[in-house]
Amino acid sequence: MTSITENSVKLEMCPECYGKIILIKEKGETVCSQCGLIIYERQFDLSHKGIKIFNKDDRIKKERLGTPISPLIPDITLYTYIDKNYIYHSEFKRAVRRDSNLTWRSRNLLIASNELKRIGHNLNLPRFILIEAFSLYKKAFKTKMLKGRSIIGMITACIYYSCKNKSIPRTFQEILHETPITEKIVKKCYNILVRELNLKVLNANPMLFIPRFAAELNLGFDIEIIIRKILQPMINKNLFCGKDPKGFCAGALYFACKIKNLGISQKEISKVVGVTEVTLRSRYKELLQNIKLITYN
Ligand SMILES: [Zn+2]
Repeated sequence: MTSITENSVKLEMCPECYGKIILIKEKGETVCSQCGLIIYERQFDLSHKGIKIFNKDDRIKKERLGTPISPLIPDITLYTYIDKNYIYHSEFKRAVRRDSNLTWRSRNLLIASNELKRIGHNLNLPRFILIEAFSLYKKAFKTKMLKGRSIIGMITACIYYSCKNKSIPRTFQEILHETPITEKIVKKCYNILVRELNLKVLNANPMLFIPRFAAELNLGFDIEIIIRKILQPMINKNLFCGKDPKGFCAGALYFACKIKNLGISQKEISKVVGVTEVTLRSRYKELLQNIKLITYN
């Protein structure tokens, strides 16, 4: 545990550029004013110390509250837990039992939010995606379509939809890899979610995935520029409808490598992207055909 005051004493200048260090209290971060390097983050604010409060000013200064309200906590309520071990009276024992029995709704949301946070952490998803996925889940809960369905399957479907909706490049397989649920169930949940909530089904833009796959294949930025030129006309014409964007990624990567004579095999590309070589070849042919059409016209 480190406090803000302790840290600012420890380091007086930036370790990278020897610039002046500034403290952003609202975010709990210590940053360099010159290069923007974050030196410390998530620091505790211990300035609100002191027990006794005498007047209004004191109250503002010393008031301390619990953790900030988060939409990811089910019910957003403070939950008081009664310790069973210290209750001896039979009447109170019954009260404790009722207290510890969560309703189906809160237990369901609790399981979903825990799973959501776990998957989000493993996939390094941004916070706004988690918030959107959870609000989607709550919406689904209200319609009562969740009865008899897998909680984890549904929350996984919500995560997948939110990633797609906000253009976060995470593939279905990646998300699926983090859950113990089978592909069939998640797909079923996703279809129900989209149908019941009247959600817009969006096509993932294959261009979003390119920087990641290119980095995994150790390709330079020049390749990315070529791929953009290959894919952009197809994106403009909306030719990706209903097809897996990963296939086009693989096809375009192979195409660009061939133009640059890099000698990267279809096998390597298809392994990194996560599609079969057959898909790669057919998408490559489609891209080739499209480029030919553009150049002839
Ligand atoms: Zn610096």
